[in-house]
Amino acid sequence: MNYSRLVVIDDEADLAGFVCDVAEQAGFDVEQFHSARLFMDQYKRRADVIVLDLMMPGVDGIEVIRFLAGIDCDALLILISGFDSGVLHSAQKLASEQGLNVAGSLSKPFRHDALYQLLRGLSVTPNNLPCHINIETPSVDELIKAMSNDELVVYYQPKVGLNGNNVTAVEALVRWNHPNYGLICPAFFISTAEQHGLIDELTWIVLEHAMAQCRSWHDQGLEMRVAVNMSANTLKELNLPEQMGHLVQKYNQDSSQLILEVTETALMQELTKSLDILTRLRMKGFHLSIDDFGTGYSSLLQLHRVPFSEIKIDRSFVSAMESDPEATAIVETIIMLGHKLKMKIVAEGVETETCRESLTNMACDQAQGYLFAKPMPGNEIFSWFSQYS
Ligand code: C2E
Ligand code: CA
Ligand code: CA
Repeated sequence: MNYSRLVVIDDEADLAGFVCDVAEQAGFDVEQFHSARLFMDQYKRRADVIVLDLMMPGVDGIEVIRFLAGIDCDALLILISGFDSGVLHSAQKLASEQGLNVAGSLSKPFRHDALYQLLRGLSVTPNNLPCHINIETPSVDELIKAMSNDELVVYYQPKVGLNGNNVTAVEALVRWNHPNYGLICPAFFISTAEQHGLIDELTWIVLEHAMAQCRSWHDQGLEMRVAVNMSANTLKELNLPEQMGHLVQKYNQDSSQLILEVTETALMQELTKSLDILTRLRMKGFHLSIDDFGTGYSSLLQLHRVPFSEIKIDRSFVSAMESDPEATAIVETIIMLGHKLKMKIVAEGVETETCRESLTNMACDQAQGYLFAKPMPGNEIFSWFSQYS
């Protein structure tokens, strides 16, 4: 995919001109605005990339972020600021939470190369979905039909031990094997399922697939725990622990074979009820993992109150480690904290050898990411595993 139109919004004409020069060298068609007000009044032409200075007199960058969110802007956003990197991080988070696609940020002063690399990197992929297709979000009716036609399939991604390379678990990730479009990623249909009361049914489909697969690996002599993503809604069913108990019995498995991944955001909804359910699940022997850690709002208190056995550090921190010392500090702190609380730590989104090495040095327990394997069908895990070990 090529991004051709780039807009720069910066009150400093010199800097705006510099950004334009670099963007032109990187192959963009550019346009600049020296006032945020002017931009908001005149912006008509669709941009593929917007480079925004946060600090401007009059209307500031944060107001522009609000404006862009209001018009459902789907351009890639690059933020620049002369403040410390904390401000950039906060603004980046704010923009992402409002549904904008933040592609990167730069602290002033920045060098030609840093901007050039960032811009050139954009033309590869707009986000990191493992499969790309140009489709609209599927409708509820289509999703209901897909579930009853058995079109949902489950892929598995190994969680690799960093101390000795042992593999003891995989994460189950749902895909939709669409008759016309091929494999569709969960990002296209999970929220539809959540908004229309279908997520419980979807979760149970995944759980059944995962348990059947686990049984089949077990029969072939491969002991593999399987992690399943639990949505907030499913965690509100008071009889969930009993239902889960029946599930593992049905496949003649031990409850310790299942790891339930819960995001921080899911946990925070109806906290008391979820705490009750999660505690009973843990008492029945299921493992509990806190997913996307660092992106939500859970406090240390909740980490302590819920009997989690594992923390998964969100890939936004892990992948930023190579270029951002603050991300490294966050990862290191989460690992120390988790270990003090007797939890195992898994780093998500490990793509490079350098990243693996730093995590090993920080005593992180496990890693998951494209460096080791992309998610794959259950029957491929066996041969991947024999090759890997
Ligand atoms: P997640 O639970 O954080 O899952 C990890 C995602 O990161 C997966 O995307 C995986 O393919 C991707 N990933 C793994 N390693 C790397 C890497 O090295 N680099 C990059 N860039 N990405 C990597 P996927 O399969 O598209 O799933 C996206 C999200 O959809 C999951 O995020 C999870 O929140 C949700 N999801 C997936 N399956 C289910 C499900 O059965 N139920 C529910 N409720 N949600 C699910
Ligand atoms: Ca997960
Ligand atoms: Ca995750």
